[in-house]
Amino acid sequence: MRMAVHPEAGCLDEYRRGGFETRPYLPDRSRTSSLLRVGGLQPFTTLDYPGELAAVVFCQGCPWGCRYCQNGHLLPSRGEGLIPWDDIIGFLRQRKGLLDALVLSGGEPTLQPALPLAIQQIKALGFKVGLHTAGCFPERLARVLPLLDWVGLDIKALPQDYPPLTGVPGSGEKAWRSLGLLLASGIAHEVRVTVHETLLPPDRLADLIRRLSQAGVRRLALQECQWRRTLDSNLGPSYSNGKDFVGDFGHLFECLEFRPSP
Ligand code: SF4
Repeated sequence: MRMAVHPEAGCLDEYRRGGFETRPYLPDRSRTSSLLRVGGLQPFTTLDYPGELAAVVFCQGCPWGCRYCQNGHLLPSRGEGLIPWDDIIGFLRQRKGLLDALVLSGGEPTLQPALPLAIQQIKALGFKVGLHTAGCFPERLARVLPLLDWVGLDIKALPQDYPPLTGVPGSGEKAWRSLGLLLASGIAHEVRVTVHETLLPPDRLADLIRRLSQAGVRRLALQECQWRRTLDSNLGPSYSNGKDFVGDFGHLFECLEFRPSP
């Protein structure tokens, strides 16, 4: 299994101690061309922010190394193919009236200290802002929640089942703390679970769905794992994709949706 690589060399220990989140969360405002490190842009989507016409920005860097990650190229915080932030702002100016929202995805957007300022810049242009996050940094998530219009939170497993999946001890506790903060915030959101039976066997998936319902989740999406593009090339196919669980557990949620892999 691939070990998680922290995006800032030498900081993994600090991340695990929790000190990483207490660092200053504001960037140098004079360096707007590198405000957020962006590794990709999807100019149009109707899938990534429910009910809105949106573009998606893929932020560089993530502290985890999930075996089924589809975006391995985005995990280093200083990867290749950087798109200058000014280009993203220029793109948005050209899309006024054509798009409703920008979704910040990754990687893990809350890794980057500039996230609050980037959100404010996007909103100043008149766009809603959505966030895709795995909840790696609960304190940082809490600080940006008031700025956001919608959040898609990945919950990967019950807390104790996270480390074999992410490669990082304590990652499950952070993700579930983020879930609690999100639910308490009242911000519109959706929780997503990626289903691969090796990492989340059917009995564990059933437990997870029940626990999410008990926690107060009302909108849940079960996502089929795109196993051909995973970070761990040995993961192989999953013969269970979660589709059957929609009928069994749909009554527990306002919306329980199955999402096949594209
Ligand atoms: S799946 Fe998400 S949280 Fe996991 S390594 Fe990839 S970007 Fe990070």
